[in-house]
Amino acid sequence: MNETELKQFLNDIKSFIAENGESFTVMSAASDKKLSTKSKNFMQDKNGFLDKTENAVESDSNASKSDILKFLKDMKINECIKCRLSIARKQIVFGEGNPESKLMFIGEAPGAEEDNTGRPFVGRAGQLLTKIVESINLKREDVYIANIIKCRPPENRNPMEDEISLCSPFLEEQISIIKPEIICTLGKFATEFIIGKDKGAISSVRGKDFDYKGITVIPTYHPSYLLRNPAAKRETWEDMKKIRALYFKN
Ligand code: SF4
Repeated sequence: MNETELKQFLNDIKSFIAENGESFTVMSAASDKKLSTKSKNFMQDKNGFLDKTENAVESDSNASKSDILKFLKDMKINECIKCRLSIARKQIVFGEGNPESKLMFIGEAPGAEEDNTGRPFVGRAGQLLTKIVESINLKREDVYIANIIKCRPPENRNPMEDEISLCSPFLEEQISIIKPEIICTLGKFATEFIIGKDKGAISSVRGKDFDYKGITVIPTYHPSYLLRNPAAKRETWEDMKKIRALYFKN
């Protein structure tokens, strides 16, 4: 990220905080004591933290992607109460992995294990994703993994449209910071968000390449679907071979 982009990023954060100050007040009035205390502390700390970080970033235009992602997480997402999913979450699940990676996996939303640990894809589906990554001669730590939705939907229900619309700008920022060359979308919701709803069902778009802002997108099935339908692993393996060829082409 160059200096101009960094300055734009900081301005976006300032606007976000200015816009959301009202929300914190409303939430406090709604008598959620735990959230109210957290939000109050956040509002007290934010200006000092922002000034400190902004000075650091401005004096070092070579701030790493990892630093910028941490800033995004700490300043814009950790205390987010933009949608109803903030009420029951234990913690946000930001994403993890190598921010310099050429390859990013995008899933749908955290489940119970992810909500408990704050890490994406750590339950049974996550263990399968780790094996899928390893099947193309990479380690999990070599890639970046994130979801569209950062807080767990209750009972693991599907995310609602307004939740996707409120939360997805965070994912878009992650993508713009990481700048992967390849995105592998996992399942219907991530695929529809990245390539559009008009392209068809996941079963008809997997196996094809798409473009997202100059990034090659290869959709495949969500690991949870593969756990329920092991026969579909063969098709996912075909998708992974395409990703491997692209990843190692140079
Ligand atoms: S799901 Fe996203 S938009 Fe909703 S509260 Fe969590 S971080 Fe905020």
